[in-house]
Amino acid sequence: MTSNQSLFERAQRVIPGGVNSPVRAFRAVGGTPRFIARAQGPYMWDAEGTRYIDYIGSWGPMILGHGHPAVLDAVQKAALDGFSFGAPTEREVELAEEIIRHVPSVEQVRLVSSGTEAGMSAIRLARGATGRSKIVKFEGCYHGHADALLVKAGSGLATFGFPTSAGVPPEVVQHTLVLEYNNLEQIEEVFKTQGDEIACVMIEPIAGNMNFVRAQVPFVKRIAELCQQHGALFVFDEVMTGFRVALGGAQSVYAKLIPGFQPDISVFGKVIGGGMPLAAFGTSRKIMQQLAPLGPVYQAGTLSGNPVATACGLATLKLISQPGFYDTLGAKTQAVVDGLTAAARAAGVPFVGDSQGGMFGFFFTDSLPQNYGVVMATDKDRFNRFFHGMLERGVYLAPALYEAGFVSAAHTDADIAATIAAAHDVMATLH
Ligand code: PLP
Repeated sequence: MTSNQSLFERAQRVIPGGVNSPVRAFRAVGGTPRFIARAQGPYMWDAEGTRYIDYIGSWGPMILGHGHPAVLDAVQKAALDGFSFGAPTEREVELAEEIIRHVPSVEQVRLVSSGTEAGMSAIRLARGATGRSKIVKFEGCYHGHADALLVKAGSGLATFGFPTSAGVPPEVVQHTLVLEYNNLEQIEEVFKTQGDEIACVMIEPIAGNMNFVRAQVPFVKRIAELCQQHGALFVFDEVMTGFRVALGGAQSVYAKLIPGFQPDISVFGKVIGGGMPLAAFGTSRKIMQQLAPLGPVYQAGTLSGNPVATACGLATLKLISQPGFYDTLGAKTQAVVDGLTAAARAAGVPFVGDSQGGMFGFFFTDSLPQNYGVVMATDKDRFNRFFHGMLERGVYLAPALYEAGFVSAAHTDADIAATIAAAHDVMATLH
């Protein structure tokens, strides 16, 4: 049998770091990444035949678990009809209709192949529609790896960002402003001094790229007001939260707390493709008319709206829009958080967790962090030991303390009970 270690060594010879996306390399937690051979329902099996209860779900897409029969059937049928045509199909229209049906702020969408592409295109559209260059993002929010978004703030308010990746020229990010998440003063100040130059403010409304940090309600409300007053567009990056925390995404959660709230532009990915490469961005019909072939903002893609990916996404959306789906998923997810919290309490380990719909996060600290700096100051050593202890007991959590976790509809009560039992064992070793 091939071992994970031998595969990792072989992979490192031909793929940088042995992986095609950095977090998969286990660099944050150490150890050997598991090479996955197959997955079914809530489980994945690695190259050595070891089974894991999967709380990553491909970093969010697998909301129904792996290999749901109805999704598999739709994908197989679509593949038999052809992989890609480079011409429009009825299924793309159906998927666009389905997304719009559940997200009232969106009148039109364009389908693309990755969240990065969707976020990058949303920024271009916001700039094109407003005729402005500056964009605001928040530290700790990840919007894909497009150049203009790979930026971290310098110290001090409203410094222009500098690139956090080599290969991004400073001039490319000179229009990207990076502020602290949940910091009302900073956003007020930026709008006061530069409000009329800002094309858009982009946010992860529940930030899953710093584990699980909610944008506070007054923060979201105030950004929406400032954007409206200054003619800037508020972009909700729902690549992770869309169709994951609720059928209407995080924006439906905030709309319940802020009467009349809607973002201007929304970005989707992950769940809408059900595990296939598919993402989307959308907004009002008026703004979307700025896109080629109707308007001056160019955007395109050979595989955009791919027929097999749209079949996978549509079958997934059909199943998750059944009444009660998110009630059940939300209860399961919170049961995981409650169980982990109880295990930590029993062991006297500082721990706090949170969830919304099928997404959760936890930290080895006493209270929920509100921004990236606080997240990164939580107990990394305990997190890493917890991660490895759980992995050894067949529970696959995200291999970095700044990543969210995901529960699927396929996770059973028995899976959750087994997870919590493992957590009791591991927490007891974390002193
Ligand atoms: N936006 C958010 C909030 C994400 O979590 C991610 C990926 O994790 C992206 C954008 C980029 O999506 P992709 O990896 O599909 O390019």
